[in-house]
Amino acid sequence: MNEDIHFSSPVVDAHCDSLTQAMEQNRRLGQESESGQVDFPRLIRGGVNLQFFAAFISPRFRDNPLARAMEIFDFYHREVADNASVAEAVYSFEDIKRALAEKKLAALLAVEGGEALAGRIEVLRMFYRLGVRSITLTWNGRNELGDGSWESGSGGGLSRFGHQVVREMNRLGMLVDVSHLSERGFWDVLGQAQKPPAASHSNCRALCDHKRNLSDDQIKALASAGGVMGLCFYPDFVREKEADIEALLDHAEHVASLAGVECIGLGSDFDGIDAPVAGLKDVTSLPLITEGLIRRGFSDEEVRKIIGGNFLRVLEEVL
Ligand SMILES: [Zn+2]
Repeated sequence: MNEDIHFSSPVVDAHCDSLTQAMEQNRRLGQESESGQVDFPRLIRGGVNLQFFAAFISPRFRDNPLARAMEIFDFYHREVADNASVAEAVYSFEDIKRALAEKKLAALLAVEGGEALAGRIEVLRMFYRLGVRSITLTWNGRNELGDGSWESGSGGGLSRFGHQVVREMNRLGMLVDVSHLSERGFWDVLGQAQKPPAASHSNCRALCDHKRNLSDDQIKALASAGGVMGLCFYPDFVREKEADIEALLDHAEHVASLAGVECIGLGSDFDGIDAPVAGLKDVTSLPLITEGLIRRGFSDEEVRKIIGGNFLRVLEEVL
C-alpha cells in the first residue's frame, strides 16, 4: 500500500557517512555488501533517488583535514564514475531533475566538518569546483568556522571566518548545514542566511533531550527561513530508551504540529551509526518510514514532501 507513494515519489536522504565507512572497510559502493547500511544497489532497492554523500572529516585527521577531504572526494568521484549506469554526480538542480528523469541515483557530495577548508575561503571555492554542494559547518568540536554542539556551554557561535563561509556558500549556491553546530552558531547562521539552511540530520530536543537535536524555537526559526531538517535514525537522538520507528515518527508529528510539514525531511545518518532505530535494518528499510507516516495520518501530499519534496524545494532554491 505504501509502495506506490514511496517508489513513485522522489526520495531524498540528506546524510550518510557511506564514503568514509566504505573506504575504511575496503568495500565498493557499486557492489551490494553484507556490511554497512548503504551501497548503490541497496539505495535503489530502498527507493532513494537523491543521496547526500558526506565527506566526514574525523578528528583523527585533524593534522591535515584538507588532505583527508581530497582522499574522500577522490573516492566519491571514482565510485560514481565506475557506476555511471546507475548513479550520477549532481551539481545543479537541472542535474538532479535529469537524474530523476533517467531513473538514476543522484549522488550529491557534501562535507561534514568545515575544518576541511583549512581556514581559507579559496579552498571553499575550489571545493565548489570539485562538486561539493553542502557543508556541515562543524562537527561536534570547535573549528575555524565556529563551535560545534559539544562546545555549546561556551556560548560560542560562528567565527568571522564562519560568517564569511556562510556568505560565500550562499553566493556560490551551496547548502549551509547547521546540524552539529552549537546553539549560538545556529542562530548566527539564521541571522545572516540569504538562502534557506538545512539541519541535515537532527531531531527534536523536546522529545529527546540531546545537544545534537534542535529546540522548538530553533525548529520554528528554521521553518520560517524556508529550511528543512532531516529526521535522523541514530537511536540516541530519537529516544533515550527503546528507540524504534514509532519513536522516530513521533518526531515527525512533533515538527508537523509545531512548524508544519514543509520543514521535515530525511537525514538517516546511515553508515555513521552502528545500528539505526529498531525496525530499520539499512537503507532498504526506508519504505517502512513512508508506511509509518501514512499510518500516522499524514496525507499523500504531506508524505511526498517529507520523504523528498521538501529537500528538493530547498535545493532548487539554493543550488
Ligand atoms: Zn553527523
